[in-house]
Amino acid sequence: MKIVCIGGGPAGFYFAISAKLRDAGHEITVIERDPAGATYGWGVVYWDDLLDMLFRNDLDSARAVRAASVLWQEQRVILRSEQTAYLPGYGFSVGRAALLDILAQRAIELGVDVQYCTEVDDPSATADAELVVVAEGANSRVRQRHGDQFGARVDIGGNPYIWLGTDKVFDSFTFAFEQTSAGWVWFHAYPSSAGISTCIVECAQATWQALGFDSLGSEDSARLLEKIFEHALDGHALISQSRGEPARWLRFTQVTNKTWYHDNQVLIGDAAHTTHFTLGSGTRLAMIDAVMLAQSVYEHEDLSAALQDYDQRGRAALRPIQAAARTSMAWFERADRYLDRDAVAFAYSMSGRQGAQPPWRYQMHLATQVPALRIAQREFHSIRRRYLARRRGEPATALALITQRFAHNP
Ligand SMILES: Cc1cc2nc3c(=O)[nH]c(=O)nc-3n(C[C@H](O)[C@H](O)[C@H](O)COP(=O)(O)OP(=O)(O)OC[C@H]3O[C@@H](n4cnc5c(N)ncnc54)[C@H](O)[C@@H]3O)c2cc1C
Repeated sequence: MKIVCIGGGPAGFYFAISAKLRDAGHEITVIERDPAGATYGWGVVYWDDLLDMLFRNDLDSARAVRAASVLWQEQRVILRSEQTAYLPGYGFSVGRAALLDILAQRAIELGVDVQYCTEVDDPSATADAELVVVAEGANSRVRQRHGDQFGARVDIGGNPYIWLGTDKVFDSFTFAFEQTSAGWVWFHAYPSSAGISTCIVECAQATWQALGFDSLGSEDSARLLEKIFEHALDGHALISQSRGEPARWLRFTQVTNKTWYHDNQVLIGDAAHTTHFTLGSGTRLAMIDAVMLAQSVYEHEDLSAALQDYDQRGRAALRPIQAAARTSMAWFERADRYLDRDAVAFAYSMSGRQGAQPPWRYQMHLATQVPALRIAQREFHSIRRRYLARRRGEPATALALITQRFAHNP
């Protein structure tokens, strides 16, 4: 089948890889408007469930993604630079640029034609394709052009945010909330590659305006944020340039569609749906869409039956995740309601933002603030992580590195 993917993000590349692995006879072109290696943003977090799927779907790219990723342990919640509370768990993070390099190389190796520096803005560019995979991201033009057919809806979040890097190395997923004269400002930070962490700063619109961010450029915004977060960043710098592009203050774009296909055009990834970044799931969902669509195309001879199958399964699986993401975004937009609590109570409220928790969870939360019990819980998670890694077939060297890192940093 002749297939064109518009957009070389995680969704477009991973679809191309997954479809080629299922049928090497497909003629697939990925068209990306940016040059190779140019992408917005810093690191993205993910968990074991994504690695499980990647290892099942394509061992080569899965191993490379795992090798390019870093491990973070626990969530740390810092209030006013004074109090710290902990939430258990661990996850992984990979630089967006590294992830895309791996996926692009693997797609090319499998025979996908990748065309960089080419923007699709005219439907005739894909006229001879039997299937057009629209992987253009949240601001997809094809979706905008056929908004009525897709039943597209776009809502804009209330809080401004800016996606920055920092040379402070975080070893846990860290939230720092600082109170300024104009209101609360906070960041979500995690390691993303050797020596660099990702730092997403967010605040209420009124606070943002009162602090003057509406009239500051990207570098000046970074300098002011360095002052606000001087303690939480240990005096480290914030980096506003990502691959030559200055970071901009944005507001979250929430995308939903009543259907994900129209004729031979099918939406995947952020073009079909977005989930707020506080859930850390958009990349995972984009790659799940990619596998699901490739599998539907493989299983159905008739293309419209394949697209219908993908559409129904994909939307049903997404519904609870999108609901959780909306609740999570709303919690952060009302965070100041909870900020009169101490750090332990505040962290507990944050951990339960997607729904009610059983009463014993609070007792457990209190217990795991005690250092000895935290260490025991980390050891338990480490054993579980090693078990999952072995089960999915991670190479021993990667396992050894994880173990070594854990031993140095319990
Ligand atoms: C601040 C922030 C933090 C995030 N953190 C996480 C996280 O921790 N974990 C996680 O899983 N997800 C995270 N996400 C979400 C994640 O970045 C997206 O969900 C993911 O990138 C979606 O992949 P995609 O391929 O659908 O779209 P994109 O990654 O947006 O890729 C779309 C590509 O299409 C290209 N393109 C667009 N239009 C055209 C055109 N007309 N012609 C040619 N090319 C075109 C673009 O240049 C781009 O390369 C975060 C998002 C934000 C904003």
